[in-house]
Amino acid sequence: MQHGYKCEDCEVAIFPTTTRTELAWLKDRIHVVREVAKHTSNGLDLWMSEGLDFINDHAGHSVIIVARK
Ligand SMILES: [Zn+2]
Repeated sequence: MQHGYKCEDCEVAIFPTTTRTELAWLKDRIHVVREVAKHTSNGLDLWMSEGLDFINDHAGHSVIIVARK
């Protein structure tokens, strides 16, 4: 089972290589992660930057965590 983010407004989803727990963590702390991303020189983990980009792209939309087999 893979988990990812889905935008209910745009009907698009991404499935970064990580766990549901991590996705929920990122979504809950998106403001913190945004700040960290601005100040880090090493960059974020790939799944984290993918997730951050997606949530930024869909700011104000309804983004949920979904599962697929
Ligand atoms: Zn959207």
